[in-house]
Amino acid sequence: MSVQGRVISMLLCSCLDCQRASGSGHSTVALVPAASLKLSGAAKSFERPTDSGARFTHHFCPTCATPLFGQSSRAPGLRLLPVGFFAGQNEWFAPSQLIFARTRQAWDLIADHLPRHQTYRDAVAP
Ligand SMILES: [Zn+2]
Repeated sequence: MSVQGRVISMLLCSCLDCQRASGSGHSTVALVPAASLKLSGAAKSFERPTDSGARFTHHFCPTCATPLFGQSSRAPGLRLLPVGFFAGQNEWFAPSQLIFARTRQAWDLIADHLPRHQTYRDAVAP
């Protein structure tokens, strides 16, 4: 998978779905336009409903199950990249906010300076 172009937004999400999907306290997300993403191999996907009523689709590698990207029916033109996908090459990640802070766990330490939103800040988050 390769990505070209600009990142629209970078954020952390502590919603319960992200906690389950990441196996941790929050997900790390870079939002990009759908057109900037190129897949070079096969991907599998599954769709699930979200608390907001949107549908969220996870795309992952069919061989090793590495998460590739996600998309939400709330923002069909965007793709949500798990920043960990770029492990070893993701020094550029600079989240600007934490969303779904209402379900953050006290043991999940988040930088104090990061703005926190109880749910979504806007309409483009998962
Ligand atoms: Zn989330």
